[in-house]
Amino acid sequence: MIDLHTHSTVSDGTETPTELLATAAGAGVTVLALTDHDTTGGWAEATAARPSGMTLVRGAEFSTVSPDGRGGEVTAHLLGYLFDPEDPAIVAEQERVRASRRDRVRAMGERMAAGGLPVDGEALLARLPADSPAGRPHIGQALVAAGVVESVSEAFAGPLRKDGPYYVEKYNTPMATAIAMIRAAGGVAVFAHPFARKKGPIVESSVILDLAAAGLDGIEIDHPDHGPEDRATLGALAAETGLIVTGSSDYHGTNKTNTPIAGETTAPAEFEKIIERAKGVEVLADRRPPAT
Ligand SMILES: [Zn+2]
Ligand SMILES: [Zn+2]
Repeated sequence: MIDLHTHSTVSDGTETPTELLATAAGAGVTVLALTDHDTTGGWAEATAARPSGMTLVRGAEFSTVSPDGRGGEVTAHLLGYLFDPEDPAIVAEQERVRASRRDRVRAMGERMAAGGLPVDGEALLARLPADSPAGRPHIGQALVAAGVVESVSEAFAGPLRKDGPYYVEKYNTPMATAIAMIRAAGGVAVFAHPFARKKGPIVESSVILDLAAAGLDGIEIDHPDHGPEDRATLGALAAETGLIVTGSSDYHGTNKTNTPIAGETTAPAEFEKIIERAKGVEVLADRRPPAT
């Protein structure tokens, strides 16, 4: 089973890279991509922890902003696989986004404290590494610890929601820039959960056609936040454009409990297309391809 989108404690998952790989191996995953938000900070630990028999794809999920196809913009996520982690443009941009993420946690913490919620953004950040891509799940954990909500998912539906009184936006890389940056660093760029309506407004299909023409490599179709109709629409778009099609759990441990690891998977033939295009860093495997 191939799962190409997972998070560790290096961003907003609840398992360390070592624990994540053990969970994946226990679930029968043969190919795993580690795609923490806006960082490659977990790559070294994941590489060291890779069990024999498992293929490890080093990646990241980039925070971007995209035209929505209606004259406005929406935030969107872009998966980058197997890019050179030392590429100066990527290093600088990921640092910029992580700094903005920490500013956002601080600002949302201040708004929540002013609104009477027991959140201290500064104290929360002090417990994380200095270059952490801190996120709303970290605030959610603080809300759970304080007894305000019972789960991080409940916090996302409540105080952390995008249209709520405490929400603060962060800096996001323009989508076209992010695609070009990943490809210039030898990586493969896949639009993550493009139709995840629960996360907020989504792009029109026309935007995916434009991005495909501008160098996007693939789209994530089988994702827990995509319903059957949206999967069908995205499948038709992929067929029309030749975009690579992926499926993945977007596993965050107990921070998002809707899908277990490998709850959604990628077809081996599609994974092979990613391997063929990637030129940044090698996929890590005992032998290739073990994709089954
Ligand atoms: Zn995402
Ligand atoms: Zn994700």
